[in-house]
Amino acid sequence: MLDTWPLLQNSQFPEIHRSKLEILQVNLGYLCNQTCLHCHVNAGPKRTELMTAQTISDILAVLKQPDVHTLDLTGGAPEMNPLFRELVSEATSMGIKVIDRCNLSILSEPGYEDLTDFLTRHKVEIVASLPCYLEQNVDGQRGKGVYQKSIDGLQKLNQAGYAIDGTGLTLNLVYNPTGPYLPPGQQQLETDYKNFLQQNYQIRFNQLFTITNMPIARFGSSLISQGKFEEYMNLLKDSMNLANMNGLMCKNQLSIDWLGYVYDCDFNQMLKLNLQHPQTHKNLHIRDIIEQDMIDLDIIVADHCFGCTAGHGSSCGGALD
Ligand code: SF4
Ligand code: SF4
Repeated sequence: MLDTWPLLQNSQFPEIHRSKLEILQVNLGYLCNQTCLHCHVNAGPKRTELMTAQTISDILAVLKQPDVHTLDLTGGAPEMNPLFRELVSEATSMGIKVIDRCNLSILSEPGYEDLTDFLTRHKVEIVASLPCYLEQNVDGQRGKGVYQKSIDGLQKLNQAGYAIDGTGLTLNLVYNPTGPYLPPGQQQLETDYKNFLQQNYQIRFNQLFTITNMPIARFGSSLISQGKFEEYMNLLKDSMNLANMNGLMCKNQLSIDWLGYVYDCDFNQMLKLNLQHPQTHKNLHIRDIIEQDMIDLDIIVADHCFGCTAGHGSSCGGALD
């Protein structure tokens, strides 16, 4: 598995610094009902790492900071953490916007029959991965049968009111390329997705987020085994667009791993690029930032960061341009 090598050697990526903290992206654990090729956390049904009650209580304490307005939940399948519903209920009662990065197939897993209803009641924003609107490409990347389960999940969400005008229930989809190339323009692709899904399945959604594949973890390893790692890195570097620097998601958000350790983003988390406590120089933990001001701290950058600035730019909220 590709870990830190060779991305950290002599990176030419420019220095960047944090602005005020507004979004906490929290990884609730690596347990998942799927095992996708592009998964950058290598999640799956046999993973046992799950965030504990103590760490979740530290997360809730940080959510009380005045500028923090959003809790973005990832995994694995975040809903598979037994404390997911407790955390969502507490956070929404504090007025925090909660995003659930949902793989859609979880909505039809045994034991999760009432999940759609729970998400609806708490007005949780759903961000769901559908790397292509064509069945063959989705099943090739995410596993056989995943496309049909995703369609079923989207229809279930629409029936519950998601992406329907006036309900206040938001459903966004995520596209990522199925190979070593950059995503196309977000707006045009969103139109194509909307037309296809509406005409073939009567499915509606709000926005499409295009996300660039990072040359790390499973995707990085597959590039290496195909002898395409260097070519893809060069593509990311050659497509660097400086206009994307201001919108980088690491400026106003932090990523928290299932143990409560703190990183600039989900990708740095996968590369084990821990933020350090400014005084003790130990790995920074969520409990250390309950009252810690993060403004102006350096962001840890390396060559994978070119994945965020290439072409139209990329973040957990899609393109940056
Ligand atoms: S559904 Fe998401 S978390 Fe689960 S294996 Fe696929 S990419 Fe990873
Ligand atoms: S990978 Fe992207 S989000 Fe993460 S630190 Fe680098 S530029 Fe920021």
